[in-house]
Amino acid sequence: MKEKVLVSSCLQGIECRYNASAYHNDKVDEYVKDKDVILVCPEVLGGLQVPRNPCEIKVGKVISVSGEDVSEAFQKGAEIVFKIAQENNIKKAILKSRSPSCGSNWIYDGTFSGKLVKGDGICSSLLKKHGIEVISEEDL
Ligand code: SF4
Repeated sequence: MKEKVLVSSCLQGIECRYNASAYHNDKVDEYVKDKDVILVCPEVLGGLQVPRNPCEIKVGKVISVSGEDVSEAFQKGAEIVFKIAQENNIKKAILKSRSPSCGSNWIYDGTFSGKLVKGDGICSSLLKKHGIEVISEEDL
């Protein structure tokens, strides 16, 4: 049976980023070619629109560039992704680097200035807390 992995939808060409764009990443394509892939976009699953304002994490809250607190939608999306992971016995997730949902180890610092700080996105953090390995596409 093929290994099941969660993958950020935007890393597989789904245009679900805040600016309605997507990524194409050869390393991710290579990694998933012999796996059963479950695509997830926690922000869309949490009810946010495409396109939407970019958001960053600041002092434990997720704030949009216009100053709106969108923490609830991010939390809801993360919980839905975790439920999908549980239902599919997922052990590993390949998630987009630096995103306030999907980022792992490094995220933007909340000032919308491109600066990075140590930390995980809301979804990555929840998955890691439950023992799921989160790998960014940059670390493949
Ligand atoms: S929430 Fe994750 S999957 Fe969705 S656009 Fe952002 S980085 Fe990609």
